[in-house]
Amino acid sequence: MKKIALIGCGAYMDNGYGCPGEWRCLKAAALGEGHFAEPSQVVAFLKCECPGRTLVANMGMAVKLSEIKPDAIYLSTCLANAKPGCPYTTPEDMAKALEAKIGVKVVIGTHGYH
Ligand code: SF4
Repeated sequence: MKKIALIGCGAYMDNGYGCPGEWRCLKAAALGEGHFAEPSQVVAFLKCECPGRTLVANMGMAVKLSEIKPDAIYLSTCLANAKPGCPYTTPEDMAKALEAKIGVKVVIGTHGYH
């Protein structure tokens, strides 16, 4: 089973508008639905915090301290499809920075649940 790490948008999650941390990302990973090609084991779940400067370093620390390198990192659907979008970065730039630092493929989006 693939090991994956999730990243959610903290600005969204903290406001409780149906936070994906409740179940959506986790269900999609568990069942292999949405952007997951197969059932996957979640080994880390990080929350981005505005303005997002610590995200890459925090993911690096999660990988180091857990001693588990994920097979892929997933940016949550709430982060990937935010409307209005993140004022600080784009999911694409975030993915590039994470891939450069962590050396793991980043998938933009997790699920299609409502
Ligand atoms: S920096 Fe952007 S992605 Fe990160 S928590 Fe803030 S709004 Fe969300």
